Amino acid sequence: MEEKRWYEKTLEDRLEELERCNQCKFCTTVCPLWDGWFVHASSGKMRSIRSVVKGTAKPDEKLVDVMYYCTVCGRCEQMCKSHSGGLITTEIIEEMRHQMVYKYGLYLPRHKEICSDVLRDYNPYHGKHEDRFSWLTRTPPNKGEYVYFVGCTDAYRMKDVAVATTELLLDSGVNLTMFWKELCCSSVLLRTGFVEDAIPIMEKNRKNLMETGAKVAVTSCAGCYRTLKKDYERIGGAGIEIQHSSELLRDLINNGKIKCKRGMNGVRATYHDPCHLGRHCDFYDAPREVIDRIPGLEFVEMSNNRENSVCCGAGGGFRSGFTDKSVEMAYKRLLEAKDIGAKLLITCCPFCELNLKQASEVKKSRVKVMDLTELVTSLL
Ligand code: SF4
Ligand code: SF4
Repeated sequence: MEEKRWYEKTLEDRLEELERCNQCKFCTTVCPLWDGWFVHASSGKMRSIRSVVKGTAKPDEKLVDVMYYCTVCGRCEQMCKSHSGGLITTEIIEEMRHQMVYKYGLYLPRHKEICSDVLRDYNPYHGKHEDRFSWLTRTPPNKGEYVYFVGCTDAYRMKDVAVATTELLLDSGVNLTMFWKELCCSSVLLRTGFVEDAIPIMEKNRKNLMETGAKVAVTSCAGCYRTLKKDYERIGGAGIEIQHSSELLRDLINNGKIKCKRGMNGVRATYHDPCHLGRHCDFYDAPREVIDRIPGLEFVEMSNNRENSVCCGAGGGFRSGFTDKSVEMAYKRLLEAKDIGAKLLITCCPFCELNLKQASEVKKSRVKVMDLTELVTSLL
């Protein structure tokens, strides 16, 4: 019998793993959405999924609320791996969402709208596909060793990050071109269960990336990074090496190609690990190494950092599904920064930045939020 393709595998194939959830509830202690309801933390989600798989519970609208009330931040998974049953909870939750969408027709209406937007315009922000590079301030070469995978959030919402990244890399002598045929990486579809709609887009990106002739695709988005690096493995890889812009920035600083002329004397700053870079890809050091090279900046870690970092609330389709709660989570992260006396919260993901900035504005926080590349650019 032919082996099942990855997206044909079902949760029935993972029953043995689901049985390992012994309801120890360690995961509830770290879930940023744990509020006394077990279904809001991983323990309850795993129990619900197991019941559906065994046929003792019927998937219904209640299951939608349970499965989508989660940022897929992976903190429960890390706890479960180190202290309990070792369940890959993020994959299980996403697989349940996948099954809900295509097998039971269950999803959040907002996510269905986003899926339609991506299928029509190749971005989830109602932007026209032909405007994807409208932020460009100069014309980069048509071919290059590096190709910039901008990502929808930078291309349509956080254009300053896209401009800063492009200008900084070109000015530092990086042989950079744009990914002119770029389409949404499809992270938003994969995270919200619309997997089978994502696959043709992923395959086009892979083919077009290979055709650029570039050696490395560099992205300034944590979500794109995780998706291109990990999810594209399922379709045979992105066809090209994937780097996050902070890695390239670190190398350029170490090679003396970038030097901060101005410092930030007396400014205390901290760093927020985006879940998609940190826990999802074990990527912690490059941004900290860049921050370390900013003259005069006083860097202090928040109490929850690196693999214990707390989600800003934006990911996993949570911001689009539960916006107020998502912004509330971002505010909690700002309070953590405030608690250690930080005036500046640096991050490396436009989606985290968007949510943290909105929280800072709404709650009138004095903690300033800034993207790492924009920060470095402002000091040259
Ligand atoms: S930590 Fe793991 S085993 Fe324990 S309740 Fe949570 S998901 Fe289940
Ligand atoms: S992935 Fe994050 S938000 Fe979702 S259940 Fe686990 S800890 Fe909670």
